[in-house]
Amino acid sequence: MADYDHDNIFAKILRREIPAEILYEDDYAMAFPDIQPAAKAHALVIPKGEYCSFDDFSKRAEAVFIAGFFKAVQQVAAKLGLEEGGYRLITNHGKNAHQTVPHFHVHVLGGQPLGGLLSGDTLER
Ligand code: AMP
Repeated sequence: MADYDHDNIFAKILRREIPAEILYEDDYAMAFPDIQPAAKAHALVIPKGEYCSFDDFSKRAEAVFIAGFFKAVQQVAAKLGLEEGGYRLITNHGKNAHQTVPHFHVHVLGGQPLGGLLSGDTLER
């Protein structure tokens, strides 16, 4: 994985250099709405640390931090009122997954039926 880019947009949100509506924050994570929502409820949860993607986070972060982060993801889903109706978590790592922002983030999606796992048939035959 490439070195962490300190100028990525989520790093700037973490440093509060650009505005975002903070939905949730604790020692491990911060959450804000996705600027281009793909569902009625669509939040992004990012760790308070310099991790490029899930892959990088899983390899380098301390176990306590990983646990704290994923507990925060659940808190965000709860805060959005998604527990009963259900929700989907997505995290993209790298090129094939179309990761566009190189700071680890988990998409929390819900508020409506979300359809199949992937939009469209992406399997090459
Ligand atoms: P990914 O393709 O998994 O890297 O997702 C990046 C997400 O970040 C996309 O869904 C974008 O809509 C979202 N995004 C980009 N810039 C911002 C921003 N300034 N505030 C909130 N969401 C953003």
